[in-house]
Amino acid sequence: MRTMKALVKAKPEQGLWLQEVPVPTVGLNDVLIRVLKTSICGTDVHIWDWDAWAQKTIPLGLTIGHEFVGVVEEVGSNVHDYARGDLVSGEGHVVCGRCRNCLAGRRHLCAKTVGVGVNRDGAYAEYLLLPVTNVWPCDPSIPLEVLSAFDPLGNATHTALSFDVLGEDVLITGAGPIGLMATAIARHCGARHIVVTDMNPYRLELAKRLGATLALDVRTQTVDAELQRSLGMKEGFDVGMEMSGNPAAFRMMLQNMCHGGKIAMLGLLPPAEIDWSLVIFNGLTLKGIYGREMYETWYKMTMMIQCGLDVTPVITHRFHYTEFEQAFAVMRSGQSGKVILDWSER
Ligand code: NAD
Ligand code: ZN
Repeated sequence: MRTMKALVKAKPEQGLWLQEVPVPTVGLNDVLIRVLKTSICGTDVHIWDWDAWAQKTIPLGLTIGHEFVGVVEEVGSNVHDYARGDLVSGEGHVVCGRCRNCLAGRRHLCAKTVGVGVNRDGAYAEYLLLPVTNVWPCDPSIPLEVLSAFDPLGNATHTALSFDVLGEDVLITGAGPIGLMATAIARHCGARHIVVTDMNPYRLELAKRLGATLALDVRTQTVDAELQRSLGMKEGFDVGMEMSGNPAAFRMMLQNMCHGGKIAMLGLLPPAEIDWSLVIFNGLTLKGIYGREMYETWYKMTMMIQCGLDVTPVITHRFHYTEFEQAFAVMRSGQSGKVILDWSER
């Protein structure tokens, strides 16, 4: 039996374990991918931490990870569109293909999604097995590190393109990797002012580099009518992107939207009270965002990069996969943007 190195959730406690596991067997419609680079997601940190969500979701023995780029190693006998050596990334949501939404081409709304690196073995390994329907052909002129982060860039793209931002004033709460990438996209797509909030000075600095008009530390500054006036705004923000998962940030956003404003919500908010009169009397539109549109989001982000979108400043740290403990420590410190793991042999 061929084996490979993989980062496995082997024990019900904090951490990950670098183990030797079998190389997956290629089925009829599968593509086996030799992983080149992966990037670390907040979800992976939850799995590392073994928090309440991870405990009820992640089966022990699972290879985790879902943000990756690699090359095709082997294809199943029914796969005709890919060949050994093709550069690929992939969608981490494996959908059922049979439900009403899937059949109508709204695959991102499938209610029976299975998550790569969450419900089935993932990408933190030398090889990853994906159904061909989930493989995305990459433009080789895009840097590998950026391609390895196409999954979160897709979250940012799906959110930022949900509403028209051309000439609009945009409020982004949360300058994590996804909020930072959304900042760059809103700038690329012609927003007027982009105000980004966080409480992490390292990330607020990055937000400025990615195109924020203002990057505000909510511990010392507030977004209010006076701040809006200082920017020459009269009626509030046209578009909001909630990317912090923090109820205080969302409440603040609701208070600062214009009448008829539109909010795309990506951050995983806990149950929390909001002032519904702001939503109702101000005629706000709230849209929940989960994952990426298959595959319109993948297309759009590729084309935006080809047309000059630059998200490389979001990538701040690089490690070899054998240094995964250091990589996760940096990620957990909050003093980082995206952290990349290199899976080449040493
Ligand atoms: P992250 O946790 O790295 O970033 C969140 C940022 O919000 C942090 O920098 C934090 O300091 C900041 N923050 C906390 N409280 C704040 C406040 N009151 N005001 C402003 N900022 C505040 O996460 P990320 O990887 O960038 O992802 C963003 C969010 O999207 C997270 O909540 C994540 O769980 C969620 N997410 C959702 C999906 C989806 O499909 N819906 C996919 C990926 C991630
Ligand atoms: Zn479905």
